[in-house]
Amino acid sequence: MADHNHIDFCTVCRKNTVYTLQKVDIIRNIRSSAYTFTITAAVCTECGETMSIPGLIDTNVQEIDAQYREAEGLVSVRDIENLMQIYQIGKAPLSLALGFGEITITRYLEGQIPSKAYSDVIRSALTSPAFMKRMLEENRDKLTDAAYRKAVASAEGLEERFSVSAKMLGTVSYLFGRLEELTPLTLQTLLYFVQGVHSALYGRPLFPEDCSAWIRGPVFPAVHKLFRDFTFDPADDARFALLDGAEAVLTDGEKRVISLVTDTFGLYGGKALEKITHGESPWTEARSGYGGGIPSGEILQKERIMAYYQAVNRQYGIDTEAGLQNYIRDMLGKAS
Ligand SMILES: [Zn+2]
Repeated sequence: MADHNHIDFCTVCRKNTVYTLQKVDIIRNIRSSAYTFTITAAVCTECGETMSIPGLIDTNVQEIDAQYREAEGLVSVRDIENLMQIYQIGKAPLSLALGFGEITITRYLEGQIPSKAYSDVIRSALTSPAFMKRMLEENRDKLTDAAYRKAVASAEGLEERFSVSAKMLGTVSYLFGRLEELTPLTLQTLLYFVQGVHSALYGRPLFPEDCSAWIRGPVFPAVHKLFRDFTFDPADDARFALLDGAEAVLTDGEKRVISLVTDTFGLYGGKALEKITHGESPWTEARSGYGGGIPSGEILQKERIMAYYQAVNRQYGIDTEAGLQNYIRDMLGKAS
């Protein structure tokens, strides 16, 4: 049904007509290459021609800009704002630190599209504190002492924090991509299940980090440190930029395991997940090591996690969602 707010003058019909907003593909040449962009167009419901509506051109400019950057793998204005925020550096010193002209970053922030080469430098700085530190070192003489020291301190703080393995970083990034909401506790528990299911199906752990038994469940201390004061909302925290593209290190099999876990365990809340982990032998054995008390910080050995999940796999067939669901149902049905 036509939306009656959508009325404007059609230059073909020569009168006011109702239009609908539709997505149409257009071809544009940029820097001598042809690109197909999907943009929003107003289409007259009487003659079928496109109409020029106030405000639509701005929308189209934004649509083309975003799709062009996506197609070319170019950083966005938001990426550059994140970069300034995570290294606590202003636009002029950032420009100089990256080896650009003093106002280059200012122009990018105003919407100018960076070249691929400059965009790649920005992306490297955004995903690697070590790279940023090297750039700051290289261009130290162009920066004030205060700006240099503040940015280096930020880079070093992030470097220390992001010292988890590439597989762990990739897994965390992939989990964030698949789940809308993730609390610090749920993230920890899902990482444990990912490790367990992967060990059972492939005979080896996915990542080298150990987890410890804490009162609410297994905790990977390295991941806890990584997210110490994060807001846990990727849209809100600039530092999530450091996870961008981290999942590239994951194999298809590893991604499949993570998907299996998010599509099963990932459907439950913290309390249910806690009930499951607390009923599993790696946990109960750690507990008995404490005389039945609450375990605190005892490492849950990878070998134990693997042995336990291999047994679960023999009983339930956890290479499928259905098998995992059966296991979860049985664990939640147990009297605690
Ligand atoms: Zn018309």
